[in-house]
Amino acid sequence: MKDRPHSGAPFADPASIARPSDDDRFMREALAEGRRAADHGDVPIGAAIVRDGSIVARAGNRREVDADPTAHAEIIAIREAARALGRWRLSDCALYVTVEPCAMCAGAAVLARIALVVFGAPDEKAGAVRSVAELLDATWMNHRPRWRLYPELRDEVERLLSDFFVMQRKSRPEAD
Ligand SMILES: [Zn+2]
Repeated sequence: MKDRPHSGAPFADPASIARPSDDDRFMREALAEGRRAADHGDVPIGAAIVRDGSIVARAGNRREVDADPTAHAEIIAIREAARALGRWRLSDCALYVTVEPCAMCAGAAVLARIALVVFGAPDEKAGAVRSVAELLDATWMNHRPRWRLYPELRDEVERLLSDFFVMQRKSRPEAD
């Protein structure tokens, strides 16, 4: 399993998109979106899109409340950022997300030309950045976002998820 981002040539210098010193602030914003997702019964995962040191879009997972299998936090945030900026190319943006993106969301980050992906906790079962696949490093992709793990809030991210699943098991013992 990879611990460090690849060194391929990105579209934009990720340091100009979001600096590591900004990670805490933006990951906390993503985490707040994740908490709100739990309020409507969705797995608490949150995301924020950052450009020029400020947030242009933020979203929580809405799969349950919207009955939409594609309503992951990252997809909603990417769509809202594109709408807010009036363009589909987000090559000057960073995606912050509490949990390692799945294959769909990592693919969407590539399609949106996202410059940098920062996530707060790995997803050993479905993470497509470094855990079960390395889509952002795939040489056949036409664009490769830089990425980094921001582990400082990992405990908070994982506690939010485990508390949610404990609650869900209590209220719906038959749930998968
Ligand atoms: Zn996803």
